[in-house]
Amino acid sequence: MESVFIRIRGIVQGVGFRPFIHRLVRETGLKGTIKNSSSGVELVLDGEREDLERFLRLLPERAPQLAVIESVEAEYSPEPRGFSDFRILSSKTENERNTLISPDIGICADCRRELLDPRDRRYRYPFINCTNCGPRFTIIRDVPYDRCSTSMARFPMCPDCDREYHDIENRRYHAQPDCCPVCGPRVFFLDAEGREVPGDPVETARARLKDGKILAVKGLGGMHLACLAEDEQLVRTLRRRKERDEKPFALMCRDTAAAEKYCLVSDEERAVLESFRKPIVLLKKRDRAALGHLSENGYLGVMLPYTPLHVLLLGEDLDALVMTSANLSDTPIVYRNQEALEKLRGIADGFLLHDRQIQTRCDDSLCWVLGGKEYFARRSRGYVPFPVRIEGSRGGILACGAEQKASFCLSKGDYVFPSQHIGDLKNAETLAHYEQQIRHFERLFDIRPKVLACDLHPDYLSTEYAQNRAEAEGLELVRVQHHHAHMAACMADNGLAGPCLGLIWDGVGYGTDGQAWGGELLAGDYRGFTRLGSLRPIPLIGGDRAVKELSRLAFALLWESGCGGGEIPGAESYEKMLSLGLNCPGSSGMGRLFDGVAAILGIKTLASYEGQGAVLLEAAAKETDRVYPVVLEGEPLRFDWRPMIREIVRDRDRGEDTGVLAGAFLNTLTEMARRMCLYGAEKTGYTDVVLSGGSFQNQILMAKLPAALESAGLRVYRHRRVSCNDEGLSLGQLMIAGAAVGAGKDKK
Ligand code: ZN
Ligand code: ZN
Ligand code: FE
Repeated sequence: MESVFIRIRGIVQGVGFRPFIHRLVRETGLKGTIKNSSSGVELVLDGEREDLERFLRLLPERAPQLAVIESVEAEYSPEPRGFSDFRILSSKTENERNTLISPDIGICADCRRELLDPRDRRYRYPFINCTNCGPRFTIIRDVPYDRCSTSMARFPMCPDCDREYHDIENRRYHAQPDCCPVCGPRVFFLDAEGREVPGDPVETARARLKDGKILAVKGLGGMHLACLAEDEQLVRTLRRRKERDEKPFALMCRDTAAAEKYCLVSDEERAVLESFRKPIVLLKKRDRAALGHLSENGYLGVMLPYTPLHVLLLGEDLDALVMTSANLSDTPIVYRNQEALEKLRGIADGFLLHDRQIQTRCDDSLCWVLGGKEYFARRSRGYVPFPVRIEGSRGGILACGAEQKASFCLSKGDYVFPSQHIGDLKNAETLAHYEQQIRHFERLFDIRPKVLACDLHPDYLSTEYAQNRAEAEGLELVRVQHHHAHMAACMADNGLAGPCLGLIWDGVGYGTDGQAWGGELLAGDYRGFTRLGSLRPIPLIGGDRAVKELSRLAFALLWESGCGGGEIPGAESYEKMLSLGLNCPGSSGMGRLFDGVAAILGIKTLASYEGQGAVLLEAAAKETDRVYPVVLEGEPLRFDWRPMIREIVRDRDRGEDTGVLAGAFLNTLTEMARRMCLYGAEKTGYTDVVLSGGSFQNQILMAKLPAALESAGLRVYRHRRVSCNDEGLSLGQLMIAGAAVGAGKDKK
């Protein structure tokens, strides 16, 4: 006999880890103790060397899917400790009360099998779930997490379910939402007028879908609008009713094979599609020009059925449904039955609903998969409210995020809890949702913020929220420059303490000089930054109007470059405004340069959603070696885009292929980034570069730019756990606020 001390670091609390260890200890015939520690769990075990080694080998293989094991250290000692059984010790550290709450988990293979097994007592029961799958975050009202504090409270377990729940060997052991047709919720179908339709609700819904109807379907974190994806006319009807002209719709495909009808699916993409988190994965279309009614760019967002209801709805024969969040013009996703009947009247031809209440809204997550990892455009259902562990982060901080892609995060020890997708705060309903979610998170994770962080922008509603709250509660408020926050978010995401360079490209953020920034090279760390590089400012003719009316940007670029632009409608008045400097604030936003070039190339002149110019420019771009001139000058080093614009216009007017010119534009930006970062590295001696900001969602840029920087001898870091766009920015605010407060208090 020997003994071993095992330290497991990572996110292993509140994920069913201790029951798992308990079973594994029993299986391997060991004895000992387990207790939580501030960084994970610690075990002391007695047993034969062989059994101890087997335990350590099985541990990572069989760990619960939500557990994030960062490291396992084992120290053997020849003396057994003399344990007579296995015990869970309670520890008195603060972290012991730190219960994590699981995200919602897509239906598992075991439940799926039972769902479709006519001999099973849950055959075709749309609420089947187990310890490994089912609703979590979206049904929780309060902590501690047990059935009576979820929306399952009104469904007392029947004796059969209760037996499963209490049996440690059962796969429904302690599954709070466990239920069955005897004791659980029920699904029903309502017609357009809200009258219940008799018969099997799922079959009714399937028949109506096949008949070309648009249905509201209740999911985990809200309602979807669903219809047959291949029916172009029908999808256009949905666009008209939803007032969503051009923005791509996501699909739900029956399985990966069905997704492959429309898209290319790599093994890595397949793994994420089929994972228990079930995000929407952006997949390359087989034919870039096809399925324009679903997506006008080269990608389709695809997810697989993640609730038992979805599995039944798609059945054996429906390959693909449009599954778009049910909401109207930027308001939050509809999530209550009554609300659905009121707000979706005239949009949905029928309603597939149920009586298990959604407690918390949570939109589908959206990501790309590269090198086997998810890169988020939106980190939400399936991931939230799971924390990211940031070594050295400071607890008790609330970071309030930006505005359009609002999110917040809260910290507790090494854990940072990013919120789900919230939406655009400009909308009163979204703002109310935001404030309510902040309170919900604070209660769930028992965090009372002492410090608030917000953007420097005086008009963001998140800033106003932070100011009001800081004042009312006497809390410290740290204002953080937008791009500094982006940079810090990417540093924290990669565990960097800095100092380093930050190449931050996005649409717009408020600069320390009050100007609109967004094509920046910064240098610094959590405590501060200097602005080393930028773009020559682009005049926004008419201010914010230029963000939608891209031809205004085109005119400004052309006029400043001496290329005329007289053919653009409105040219005369634009010219007057520019020459008088009338309502033409400058912006160094990379997004504006993308939009302006997209308009010059005739790709898009009027944007109907944010980032559309850049998205379509990427979709149009073709592979080419061509690079336009890169002129950098001044301090901060500014990219003078005028020589590039002149050559783009020359090539365009020669009638050259638009796709080649778009490709050459992206090459030019890559070369500009390389030279600007080299300049920054020379000036500071820093060789780490973090990439952040919404422009880095551009997949062509991301395929080229990091490699170009690396070949210049720099180490490149991109976002891994939070989004590179404004949704991920609150993490950076939080780190900067922590450093600001720490500097005042620790005097280290
Ligand atoms: Zn399951
Ligand atoms: Zn039951
Ligand atoms: Fe931004």
